[in-house]
Amino acid sequence: ELAEIGLIGLGVMGSNLALNIAEKGSRIAVFNRTPSRTAEFVSEAGSLAENIVGCETIEAFVAAIRPPRPIIIMIKAGEAVDQQIDALRPLLPGGDIVIDAGNANFRDTIARFDRLKDTGLTFIGMGVSGGEEGARHGPSIMVGGTRQSYARVEKVLTSIAARYEGDPCCAWLGEGGAGHFVKTIHNGIEYADMQMIAEIYGVLRDGLGKSAGDIGAIFGQWNTGRLNSYLIEITEKVLAAADPQTGKALVDMILDRAGQKGTGKWSVIEAQQMGVPATAIEAAVAARSLSSMKAERQAAEAIFGTPRCAFPMADGAPLLKDLELALFAAKIAAYAQGFAVMAEASREFAWSLPMPTIARIWRAGCIIRSQFLDEITKAFTEQPDVANLIVTPAFSAMVQESLPSLRRIVAAAVTAGIPVPALSSALSYFDAYRQARGTANLIQAQRDFFGAHGFDRIDGLPIHHGPWGAGG
Ligand code: NDP
Repeated sequence: ELAEIGLIGLGVMGSNLALNIAEKGSRIAVFNRTPSRTAEFVSEAGSLAENIVGCETIEAFVAAIRPPRPIIIMIKAGEAVDQQIDALRPLLPGGDIVIDAGNANFRDTIARFDRLKDTGLTFIGMGVSGGEEGARHGPSIMVGGTRQSYARVEKVLTSIAARYEGDPCCAWLGEGGAGHFVKTIHNGIEYADMQMIAEIYGVLRDGLGKSAGDIGAIFGQWNTGRLNSYLIEITEKVLAAADPQTGKALVDMILDRAGQKGTGKWSVIEAQQMGVPATAIEAAVAARSLSSMKAERQAAEAIFGTPRCAFPMADGAPLLKDLELALFAAKIAAYAQGFAVMAEASREFAWSLPMPTIARIWRAGCIIRSQFLDEITKAFTEQPDVANLIVTPAFSAMVQESLPSLRRIVAAAVTAGIPVPALSSALSYFDAYRQARGTANLIQAQRDFFGAHGFDRIDGLPIHHGPWGAGG
């Protein structure tokens, strides 16, 4: 019996996706560059092996799938994907659909889409979020490609996706690179979310001297309220975990050096490219880079020492409330920025990205899943073309309620010398965004002074240069 779908790459994500597909009742052919992995995978699949066809060669793999063949590629992003496509191309007669499910740069996806257009093959760029667990039991799936090609794989993809209130967290978001772009911004927001949580942890640890266990309990408390989300939930669990080696809190034994694979950086690059401020995401990416400079930071601490100012707020319920609301306000800024980047990209690439749908398919399965996304879905459903999430009635009310807390927490952290780059960028973003008269008048005057770049006047007079004379 021929398989309905094929999958290449039995790493962490690919093997779990394949098990998920087999479990939902589709027969799947699998192939991995290293064949021993394929055999191992099939032998460990238990009763699901009945729905899995393990293939040792790429030729056998292609022959095992019913045409027109949907083939998911879930391997290391980048050049490996092009090599894999090149290996498949001569074996596929046309009409087949190649689906890149890895974390591709959406610009590569657009290029691959165009490259395959004339070969008779269709290309889909598909963002998958949810890590290992999501892949196995229900990820969030963001699809880009032609609408027709999506129609051919919709059934199997929606069957394996996470569900929120019965609806699958899987959707076609637009042509070409739309799916991978949205996945990239998802990850950018994820960076900001994680960084802001880490900064609040820093205030509790270094400002208030709390233990990991105590901080974990605070996050646990917050997870029952407006911050309810997967990332807050796992933060509680992480902080509660003991190190089997030493018996100490595990988090205290982990080096403070964060890794990154590129999607956060790409979010920032694209935001900058389009001229959309995504300051909280930028701060989060920069903070990971700074974290990796461990030796430099140690050398600098030897020179500058640690700040001697005590944290200026008293421990207790009011402070904890402020911390909770500060994190919430900052989170609003990060999401507003991420959605603003997507809105601009949607115009630039003519994708018509469906904002309420994006918020909805992030509601379950993915890493940034949270209650809060319901509010975003509602806000964009009411006002699909709103300039910025924070000016919608629901969000402006939330910002007004939580902003004073963010201001107090950032001020206190700054006083005590605790770095809060993402929280403070979020605060400055709000402050700058709501300032009808900013300070760029001075920048325009400076630009005109040294470069005769010209300015516009507030009274509309048709005078565009200042009387700078010879110095200008
Ligand atoms: P793994 O490192 O677990 O697996 C990598 C897979 O890629 C292996 O099957 C490997 O085959 C294959 N591979 C590597 N290079 C080549 C090549 N040149 N040609 C053919 N196959 C190759 O990776 P993950 O499963 O974690 O990630 C896969 C993709 O999914 C990546 O794009 C990643 O960014 C993305 N992703 C990962 C998430 C996660 O939480 N881990 C979440 C969402 C997306 P071999 O066994 O022969 O080495």
